[in-house]
Amino acid sequence: MAVLVLADVDNGKLTAATARVVAAAAELGPVDLLVASAAAEEARTIAGVHRVLAGELPRIADALAPVLAKLAGPYSHIVAAANATGRDVIPRLAALLDLMPVTDVTAILGPNKFERPIYAGNATETVSDGQGKHLLTVRASAFAPARSGNAAIVEAIDTSNPSVAEIMGEQRSQSTRPELSTAQIVVSGGIPLGDKFGLIEQLAGQLGAAVGATRAAVDAGFAPNELQVGQTGKIVAPDLYVGIGISGALQHLAGIQGAKAVFAINKDPAAPLMQIADAALVADLFEAVPAVIAELEKLGIKR
Ligand SMILES: Cc1cc2nc3c(=O)[nH]c(=O)nc-3n(C[C@H](O)[C@H](O)[C@H](O)COP(=O)(O)OP(=O)(O)OC[C@H]3O[C@@H](n4cnc5c(N)ncnc54)[C@H](O)[C@@H]3O)c2cc1C
Repeated sequence: MAVLVLADVDNGKLTAATARVVAAAAELGPVDLLVASAAAEEARTIAGVHRVLAGELPRIADALAPVLAKLAGPYSHIVAAANATGRDVIPRLAALLDLMPVTDVTAILGPNKFERPIYAGNATETVSDGQGKHLLTVRASAFAPARSGNAAIVEAIDTSNPSVAEIMGEQRSQSTRPELSTAQIVVSGGIPLGDKFGLIEQLAGQLGAAVGATRAAVDAGFAPNELQVGQTGKIVAPDLYVGIGISGALQHLAGIQGAKAVFAINKDPAAPLMQIADAALVADLFEAVPAVIAELEKLGIKR
């Protein structure tokens, strides 16, 4: 069994998701990693990678899927991250190869036995697809990253393919914070923060954490769209999830089920997030958060 992984590259660099997807794929067999040439040197250091296939990869899914289809022949599994790119390209590849993809995999139980969440994370199903070749998107946050220190062979391949679509421009969000989907600590805020959402930023800054938000906070314009955590936002699986002024609606909880520990601050002890939290503080956030920030400062804690 050989596995082809589509590396996740942003701005010429591998994202944190790639080493996690490789770790997942390495459970299935030796991994060939398909990557944009600019990130090939970085890609070859990931443990578990047997070969790096490097080329000028098309950035648009309608052109990238045929490239994967051409390479697909020898592979038993083709794997990508369950993010915007993977969700776009793997179904197109599935259509080209006339296969059924298995999406949002969170555990690999065998060569054709995968776990994934269903019903907004309220149940887990075990899936076998009954096919000879398997197309997977995996939730990177569900897997620990593969280590570095490898020196895999790099092979240049021809990946040129025209696209009917064209990228007219792009707007990038600028942040020095860790990437939300793979951060070890996430501090999220709910709608009561209002125009004081900066408190969440401040606390996250001190903890070296990524910032998240509820859909209510995003819809109200208090936090940008890309920070939304939940069923229709990002899925996170940090070691610590801090939820401040968040009720814990099902759709929000669907995004944090992989969190190893949850700490919540809410003035309502009956709020669902308070009920599932490992530790909870019943308090007005506008008093509690500045007090926590001041205490961290006093203790000299800054990551
Ligand atoms: C199809 C669909 C998809 C959705 N997808 C998502 C999703 O991906 N992510 C998501 O988050 N939501 C999602 N939602 C919305 C979700 O149902 C909730 O409406 C939303 O999560 C609520 O956000 P909130 O916790 O900020 O607000 P609220 O539910 O209003 O909760 C605010 C909480 O703050 C507490 N509070 C108020 N003032 C203070 C204070 N001063 N100090 C401390 N605590 C205070 C309150 O007690 C309350 O518990 C979706 C909904 C639908 C229908």
